[in-house]
Amino acid sequence: MVKKLFIPGPVDVSADVFQAMSHPMIGHRMPEYAQLHESVTRQLKTLLNTDKPVFLSTSSAFGIMEGAVRNLVQKRCANFGNGAFSTKWHDVTKRCGLEADLFSAEWGQPITPEMVDQALSTGRYDALTLVHNETSTGVMSPLADIAEVMKKYPDVSSIVDTVSSMSAVPIDFTALGLDVCLAGVQKAFGLPPGLAVCAVSQQALDKARTTPNRGYYFDFEEFEKNDLKHNTPSTPCISLIFGLDAQLKKMFAEGLDNRYARHAEMADFTRSWIQQQGFGLFAAEGYRSMTLTSGANDGRTDLDALKKLAGARGFAMDTGYGKIKGQTFRIPHMADMTLADLKEYFALLEELLPQVRA
Ligand SMILES: *Cc1c(COP(=O)(O)O)cnc(C)c1O
Repeated sequence: MVKKLFIPGPVDVSADVFQAMSHPMIGHRMPEYAQLHESVTRQLKTLLNTDKPVFLSTSSAFGIMEGAVRNLVQKRCANFGNGAFSTKWHDVTKRCGLEADLFSAEWGQPITPEMVDQALSTGRYDALTLVHNETSTGVMSPLADIAEVMKKYPDVSSIVDTVSSMSAVPIDFTALGLDVCLAGVQKAFGLPPGLAVCAVSQQALDKARTTPNRGYYFDFEEFEKNDLKHNTPSTPCISLIFGLDAQLKKMFAEGLDNRYARHAEMADFTRSWIQQQGFGLFAAEGYRSMTLTSGANDGRTDLDALKKLAGARGFAMDTGYGKIKGQTFRIPHMADMTLADLKEYFALLEELLPQVRA
């Protein structure tokens, strides 16, 4: 059965985006591709307020997450972990043979500027990784405040995952002074999986050129060289890039401020609904995500049973991720979703909840 997706990625894809993706194939060394590439990267630069290159990586987010550390860790990496994705990034860093330490916060809590300051003040690190919006917990760390602290350490490359926040909240790559800001497109962008985007600072590009063992597929120097010609090192997922072009045009037609406001309104509505149903909110107050909300189970609701019932009615529900599976459930409100979609979902859950509560 085709289910309406209420999981935080991949998310449902609009018919018009699928339509755009069915554009007849073109060769990636043809001028038609250069035109498409230029259009997409120009819009991404506007979205992120940068004139630095934004690379198109044919991979899921973890491809470019791995690539970023391979390009930018020369000495030792500080990985900040407060959930499944950020903690896995530490594991990925070590698997690349790089020196790295994990600095953890409780799941449900943010990474704080103080944590970052304390770690970097040791002088041991030349790079850090951070997940802005931990999709496993629904926590959005205070990126602007953290970025302020990072300005004290200009030689430390800041590599930030905004997989589930880019395009849903304002991210000003220039004002934040980040070195790498990356996202996969199957979350907040509302596209099928298989493409990641990645803005890179001049300082990071210069540093990458001096880093050994960066491999080929995610080598920033290869990306940069090709991007200057509106191209990619190897054959990209051209259909997805057609989809992204259409989706970006839709975002600008909606208006970025309207898009950000739509996400904030959906987040607000979802938080209230969860509490009205007698559940708690898992993420710490003040750090709750704009793109998904984690409910804390009340101990008397059989979430697996609820998921089954919702599934039979054509709605794919989420019952938590990683070590908090079952203790939490996540409600996404990102990409093309609207308040009306949430109302439809919540009406169904309200009907089903009495059947699964002790
Ligand atoms: C989904 C997600 C990832 C992993 O992305 P893949 O596309 O599966 O590689 C990484 N970070 C965050 C914050 C995510 O939400």
